[in-house]
Amino acid sequence: MESERDLMLDGNAAAGVLQEIFGEEMTTALTTCDECATVSQMAMLRVFSGGPGLVLRCPACEAVMVRIAQTPRGTFVDVRGVRQMRLPLPSIR
Ligand SMILES: [Zn+2]
Repeated sequence: MESERDLMLDGNAAAGVLQEIFGEEMTTALTTCDECATVSQMAMLRVFSGGPGLVLRCPACEAVMVRIAQTPRGTFVDVRGVRQMRLPLPSIR
């Protein structure tokens, strides 16, 4: 029997998809939750899959931060739950 918990992964599970979209290694990017202002590395976000794509939630308040849907028409990325994203400098990658 499959529960919602079975579909929960950590942010590293989304690493490949995020890299495809942003063209960068994104797991160490810092994200600020728009709901509670918690700053987390992308790898720390809670990833839910099972629908048409991925949903990344804040580890502190569970608010939806990123939605990714890959469809035949293209990849849809909704980042309205992210107040700010800070990518590492190329020199320290
Ligand atoms: Zn939050």
